[in-house]
Amino acid sequence: MLSRDQHPISRQLLSPSALKVLYRLNKHGYDAYLVGGGVRDILLGLEPKDFDITTNATPEQIKDLFRNCRLIGRRFRLAHIVFGREIIEVATFRGHHESAPEQNKNCKKISKQSEHGMLLRDNIYGSIEEDAERRDFTINALYYSTKDFKVYDFANGVKDVENRVVRLIGDVETRYREDPVRMLRAIRFATKLNMKIEEQTEAPIKSLAPLMANIPAARMFEEFLKMFISGKAVANFEQLREYQLFKFFFPAVDQALNNHDDQLKRFIILAMGNTDKRINNNQRVTPAFLFSAMLWYPLQDYIKQINASNALAPQDAFFAALNEIMPEQQRSIAIPKRFQGIMKDIWILQDKLARREGKRAFKCYEHPKFRAGYDFLLLRSEIETDNQSLAELAKWWTDFQQVSPEAQQQMIKTTQAPQGRRRNPRRRRKPSAKPVAE
Ligand code: ATP
Ligand code: MG
Repeated sequence: MLSRDQHPISRQLLSPSALKVLYRLNKHGYDAYLVGGGVRDILLGLEPKDFDITTNATPEQIKDLFRNCRLIGRRFRLAHIVFGREIIEVATFRGHHESAPEQNKNCKKISKQSEHGMLLRDNIYGSIEEDAERRDFTINALYYSTKDFKVYDFANGVKDVENRVVRLIGDVETRYREDPVRMLRAIRFATKLNMKIEEQTEAPIKSLAPLMANIPAARMFEEFLKMFISGKAVANFEQLREYQLFKFFFPAVDQALNNHDDQLKRFIILAMGNTDKRINNNQRVTPAFLFSAMLWYPLQDYIKQINASNALAPQDAFFAALNEIMPEQQRSIAIPKRFQGIMKDIWILQDKLARREGKRAFKCYEHPKFRAGYDFLLLRSEIETDNQSLAELAKWWTDFQQVSPEAQQQMIKTTQAPQGRRRNPRRRRKPSAKPVAE
């Protein structure tokens, strides 16, 4: 335990909303602590991404105290207290499954385990000491109280914060089996906090990696965001490949990388590096851009395969390939429909950007996803260095955006339609072209 003068956490460093929640729980006689990233990051001198709170109040009791409260999660039930755009996550102390009362162990809503030892429901409540043992890493099992301003350290987390070590609490294999996502979390904390994964925590990751196959695609989408829309995408990509965990995000891409697809690898690293830069400069990013980059070359391979066996119009070959690749990818990561729509737009724009005659260039320019499509074209031209016409096209669009409307007209007049890419007039757009599969 650290007293007030032994740690740097003060109320000024907490968000006012987190303080409100802590005070209110205390006022109504419940224990309440700031826990997880909120404590860890302040100890490291960083600004916490969000504030998590833990309490001995049950989710229902929490709901009774806060009007702005939503109960969420089935596997791990918890309360979200909503303050405008900020959400404070409040979890009830978790307890051990073995020592839980028989009736709770047998109730499938409260506790459930798969044949692989994975916790499908983790809603058995306990004391703060038990809660500390149920947390993933020692650095995440630190509790700060606004009642006595002390930091409670049940798992030697302060020492590991100081030594920058990511160490699982408890029996390593059991903890990974309970929740294989902890393998991803180990990597993520190591890259984000510039820490080392402790030897025993690291040792079984490769051999237990196949357990990731049991994680639902919806949770994988959440993990995708934390891994790749975090400012550390390149480092996480490299670590995930190293530990053979990347394939659970993008199986087709992983396969191609194993076959030494160097162009794909350079493209992924470039796109991820770009995303990291944007995030670190507080610029907006859409996950759809990264998804479209990941799948662009695999999509081209599909198109080539389709063209080899059928004589389809380019657009039909594109949609046929799309209908192969998207359902396959969705089995790993449930990509929400709105992002699938943007991915499709970015890909279709790659073809549209090449057709600039007549009014086409202006139509493209007005497309709501023009900017993303253009940025994507630039990335491609950086990678496909032997494709001279792609470099010229990228430059054309860069110039187009900088000149006057008259000069734009002039640019269009001097452009020629791309060779051999005209649509066959007898094969106009087919009504059978299917939308993106879900
Ligand atoms: P950040 O929010 O910066 O990514 P965090 O440590 O706060 O990091 P959260 O995902 O917000 O991570 O979770 C809050 C806390 O809940 C963690 O610090 C950890 O104590 C606990 N926790 C989260 N996920 C798990 C898990 N899969 N297994 C065990 N404990 C977990
Ligand atoms: Mg957090």
